[in-house]
Amino acid sequence: MYTHLKERHYYEDLYDRFTVDYARDHIGYYDKFHDEFKEKLPKGEKIDRPGNAFLLNIFYMQTIGNELLRRYENREQQITEWIARDESKDDQIAAARLHEEPLCSHCKKQGLRIIDKSLMHRRENSKYDDPEEVLFMLKCPHCDKNSAFWEDGTAWKAKPTLCPKCSTEVTHKTTESKRFITIRYNCPKCKHSFKEKLNIGAKEEKPDPDFEKDRAHYCLHDKEFRDHLFAIRQGFKDMARLGREMKEKQDNKHIYDAVKEMKKPKIAELIPLLSEPLEKAGYIEFHLDKPEMGRDVYVGFSCLDSKSDRNDYDSRKTLKKLVESALEETNWRLMSDGISYRLGYLNGRVKAYEGEEDLKKLVMKSKKLKPKQTSSKGTDKSDGRTLKAPDGTEIIL
Ligand SMILES: [Zn+2]
Ligand SMILES: [Zn+2]
Repeated sequence: MYTHLKERHYYEDLYDRFTVDYARDHIGYYDKFHDEFKEKLPKGEKIDRPGNAFLLNIFYMQTIGNELLRRYENREQQITEWIARDESKDDQIAAARLHEEPLCSHCKKQGLRIIDKSLMHRRENSKYDDPEEVLFMLKCPHCDKNSAFWEDGTAWKAKPTLCPKCSTEVTHKTTESKRFITIRYNCPKCKHSFKEKLNIGAKEEKPDPDFEKDRAHYCLHDKEFRDHLFAIRQGFKDMARLGREMKEKQDNKHIYDAVKEMKKPKIAELIPLLSEPLEKAGYIEFHLDKPEMGRDVYVGFSCLDSKSDRNDYDSRKTLKKLVESALEETNWRLMSDGISYRLGYLNGRVKAYEGEEDLKKLVMKSKKLKPKQTSSKGTDKSDGRTLKAPDGTEIIL
């Protein structure tokens, strides 16, 4: 019985064959580029000058290098998938059982013997959309003819062959030789006849004396060459990231400027910053607690409300506003847990924002942020010498 699963080296050979075919199909583009590039160099300039080598590397990676690395990295996974796929095909065939005993399609008798099971697409026109199903081939001991059935007992129907001239179903005769099956079709209506020849002889493999050498090279068996390609790819990735970062800095210059201009008072400086406006509004005895140092820095504060006619709600609300406005242009903020009040004693907490991302967020929330400057032509300074990095980012040379 036909099985799908093969030895592991079969899949390895298949995968590497694809890699070598890919490389042979593409290396020509690189060689052509390389030769034309060399021709156009100014007199006396060497092709391995750093700038030239850089350009050639980009072109090599784009035409072939990146794909070789990708195929190198995906090899194990792809082979594992192929093996799993074939194993599951074999499992599906092994587990298949006919749901009822079928009758011979020719003499309608019972007692057929299974001679083959295979996987087929059931619907003719959607070849690869529907899952494959198991088709049973059975031999009739009475009339000696074969019948085919799907697992659920439905008889297999051959798609009728139609005459290309009048679309009538044609009759056919098959002759078999050592290497070919020849099917001769005859149209009963218009008498048109045609034939089809199927090659069944073992395909002769063309000798490929360079295969093992190309395989070792393009499948990156050589560690030095492999590491070299990985390093080039990493270099481009780093460069592209740097380019993106620079562009982001340029695009958001107004935000970075505002972060730079933001006041970042030390903890001691918070005392005059807060106590002065608070005292003017009747909050006295301002104190800072010991700071809580963690990933973020928090500092608790307290004061006393000296105005006897101010109630709990108003006192908290006024203090909140004062603290918020005093801190507005700094990297400190009143914590959202707010301010508590008891018998004219008020306390709350402020938090410092330190990291660049946090500061950017603070600035972006601020109403005072200047609008983005769109007139800047900072990115157009190049003289047109830009190149696309392998990931699509433009590199300005
Ligand atoms: Zn029969
Ligand atoms: Zn016809």
